[in-house]
Amino acid sequence: MEKVIICEIDKYDKEKIKAFLAKGFNDLNFKFQRKKVLIKPNLLSAKPPEKAVTTHPLMVASLAEILMDNSCNVYIGDSPGYESTDKVLQKAGYMEIIRHLNIKISRFDEKIVKRNEGISPYKEFVLGEDPDRFELIFNVPKLKTHTMMGLTLGVKNTFGFIHAFHKAKWHLRAGKDRGLFARVLIDIHNIIKPHITILDGIIGMDGEGPSHGRIRNLGIICISKNTYALDYHIERMIKLPYLLPITKEAKKISFIGEYEVIEYGNPVIKDFVMPKTMNTDCNLPEGIKTVLKNLLIKKPKIKRGICKGCGVCIKVCPASAVEAFNGSVKFDYKKCIRCYCCQEMCPNDAIKI
Ligand code: SF4
Ligand code: SF4
Repeated sequence: MEKVIICEIDKYDKEKIKAFLAKGFNDLNFKFQRKKVLIKPNLLSAKPPEKAVTTHPLMVASLAEILMDNSCNVYIGDSPGYESTDKVLQKAGYMEIIRHLNIKISRFDEKIVKRNEGISPYKEFVLGEDPDRFELIFNVPKLKTHTMMGLTLGVKNTFGFIHAFHKAKWHLRAGKDRGLFARVLIDIHNIIKPHITILDGIIGMDGEGPSHGRIRNLGIICISKNTYALDYHIERMIKLPYLLPITKEAKKISFIGEYEVIEYGNPVIKDFVMPKTMNTDCNLPEGIKTVLKNLLIKKPKIKRGICKGCGVCIKVCPASAVEAFNGSVKFDYKKCIRCYCCQEMCPNDAIKI
């Protein structure tokens, strides 16, 4: 039976994290000695670790030290939202660790075409890195809310393998259909096939994540070989009264079966606040949603006086629904697909949903 292991851990203490990881790998019978490995953290944007937007560097340092001690050849990589990988690694506090441990950087700037007969209607995906170059992939997401998909955990984290602005193409293809986007994310996850997922939930984010939510000391790390079970278990710990789109699709195709939960300490998640978008996107009866969807799905709106007119939202909008206007921006709601990439990437928190 699949296992999901959760540990209560109050702060980023490298020795404590290493002790948990070593015990967890042993309990999962996970072998990794002398392998060429890729660590894929969440490197969404160039924010310092205390902002809880990116996977904490001490999570990655703890993991990398264990891997080095076991003679692994370690790479780290991701494709951030719109900045360069190097800029995000620098700002997110990784560079010293990378230099100190002699980790190699993969900038996810290749164009690798992978074909897959999955559950979405799409069969071809352009990746920034070839997962088959590595013997093992360690998927290391951050526990955060996500205004479009509810949460961003393990399955969503592998969307970062998609090459640069091809990500926008997938948003555009899925449009407002959260179920279709979930099926695309599942297909991508199944191409990457991470060998293990390690969720950084020591400090996470609730509310209007994944960039501008409330920073929360949640005090957990969770690991599993089955990312779908891990993600589902976090939803259960949060006590969501509904299934989020990825879990809903994964359950339909039996990717989530029975699993055993192993707890170290007393890991709990209390008073977790989901994004406001979830009240309409997941929490309403299907019949009402189908009829009123376009009216109910929340729109992005500008916070006047905060917007600095930097143009990042114009650059990242998959639907070309944002344009410059009077030193700020305005939205074309007829074109807008409610993906909230603009809110996610705005460096000034100038967009509300
Ligand atoms: S809304 Fe944000 S990203 Fe868009 S122009 Fe204003 S400050 Fe820049
Ligand atoms: S305006 Fe914002 S929410 Fe609408 S499509 Fe563009 S990025 Fe997505």
